[in-house]
Amino acid sequence: MNQSSGSVPSIALVIPVFNEEQVIPELCARLTALFDGGHGCTWRAVLVDDGSKDRSAELLRAQAARDPRFELVELSRNFGFQSALAAGLAHARPADAVVTMDADLQDPPEVIPEFVAAWRNGAEVVRGTRRSRAETGLRRVGFDLFHAIFRRLSDFPVEPNTGTFGLLGRNAVEAYHQLPERHRFFPGLRAWIGFPTADVLYDRQERAAGTPQQTFRRLVRYALDGVFSFSHLPLRMLTYTGISVAFTGFAIGLFFIVRRLLGVEIAFTGFTTIITLVLFLGGVQLIGIGVLGEYLGRMYDEVKQRPLYVVKRRTGAKQ
Ligand code: UDP
Ligand code: MG
Repeated sequence: MNQSSGSVPSIALVIPVFNEEQVIPELCARLTALFDGGHGCTWRAVLVDDGSKDRSAELLRAQAARDPRFELVELSRNFGFQSALAAGLAHARPADAVVTMDADLQDPPEVIPEFVAAWRNGAEVVRGTRRSRAETGLRRVGFDLFHAIFRRLSDFPVEPNTGTFGLLGRNAVEAYHQLPERHRFFPGLRAWIGFPTADVLYDRQERAAGTPQQTFRRLVRYALDGVFSFSHLPLRMLTYTGISVAFTGFAIGLFFIVRRLLGVEIAFTGFTTIITLVLFLGGVQLIGIGVLGEYLGRMYDEVKQRPLYVVKRRTGAKQ
């Protein structure tokens, strides 16, 4: 049994918010409708303001003052989506289950009762699976490319149609908190912790208002985090490349030595060959250093042991 014995289960929604003033009124209205519906649970929303520059925090503070089911955790600056999510999960305890979702209503709150039903049926992890994707153009190509690469590289494949939207039971939340890393890729971590997992289909919506806060550059960085923290394959590929280049070099060297010993004259041509080889090998070495650097930089960040986020202020939380 997932929930605490016999009593009504408590569900907390964790929602990172960054410059979402345009969607907050609709978000609060739709969450209130969900909470009022009851669905046999008690509800609470833990909104994390990730250093918004607009009136998001102010609007959410007012909401928390109006309705005790809403809490606000304000971070001291913009720490990024993954850190805000970690902050929310830490502040959502104790709850029997935690739902993670975006603030922009691309993840429709109306699906959440289905997550809860799947959890009550024994799943510890529930993933919202998109029937359709709202993204188009470059973002779409980027997402597809990332998932194609990630699937090949990682030992913990992430379903291409799942994202942050989903539910974690209490045990899964505790397991998530045991993962101490700084570069966090939520879908990968969720796959890593294991537990019985269920998928619930939903239609991904367009953003209710405003523009995406995750810039393309951030998404690329996020994708790199996914690859480098869930795979050693880039390093292994370097080793293989090194071995094959070395073997080829050895064979070519041997060929010329034997020719020389046999007395074949070497006319000095081959400038093109030399320049091509020098550039090629230089390129391979630089890529190699780059890959090493990706791992080294991440190791450095881990070693520093800085916290993932700093909380500035809490409103509406039970202290
Ligand atoms: N977000 C955040 N911190 C950031 C960027 C985004 O907390 O630095 C929040 C944002 O408010 C939204 C969610 O993360 O609730 C997803 O962001 P967005 O919709 O911009 O990204 P996408 O839909 O492209 O994943
Ligand atoms: Mg969005």
